[in-house]
Amino acid sequence: MKGYSETESGKREFPETEPGRNEYSGTGPGRKGYFVTERGRERDSETSEEIRIQELICAASAQLAHSYAPYSDFKVGAALLAEDGRIFTGCNIENAAYTPSNCAERTAFFKAVSEGVRGFRAICIVGGKSGNPTGYVAPCGVCRQVMMEFCDPETFRIILAYGRENYKIFRLKDLMPEGFGPADLNA
Ligand SMILES: [Zn+2]
Repeated sequence: MKGYSETESGKREFPETEPGRNEYSGTGPGRKGYFVTERGRERDSETSEEIRIQELICAASAQLAHSYAPYSDFKVGAALLAEDGRIFTGCNIENAAYTPSNCAERTAFFKAVSEGVRGFRAICIVGGKSGNPTGYVAPCGVCRQVMMEFCDPETFRIILAYGRENYKIFRLKDLMPEGFGPADLNA
């Protein structure tokens, strides 16, 4: 993973890339209109694209209030955009026995899948100590694997954000190169 480092303070960053709205990682479907689903088709433009991303950042950020992280105090929120335009949210949920803890991303995925939804476009992730995002928080390996199960690594987008102005967009393929997915069982 390019430029990934964990600082002494525990804040996770991607120092090789500058933060900002011009960040766009990868090829595949063009950015314009990519996050705009049928529901928002009437305002198909870069503006609506930006609005959709902001919606996801807002929805993910709102989840910080629900995060249950009494042990790490590292709160994470996620907003998962389904193919049909619906947004499924999630927060991290820790446990006194530690291993039963669940990440925000997987909470969002499992909520969606449990409601019969299996097609997804993007997920936005925010997080930080005490619920104050001050840098980019990337999904853990387990969550990346869950994304591999339900998402096309070529097209599924992962939006890392803090605040409304700072976000980076990656393809799942960028964060999970040579990943193992359902198709590999038939290879
Ligand atoms: Zn995770």
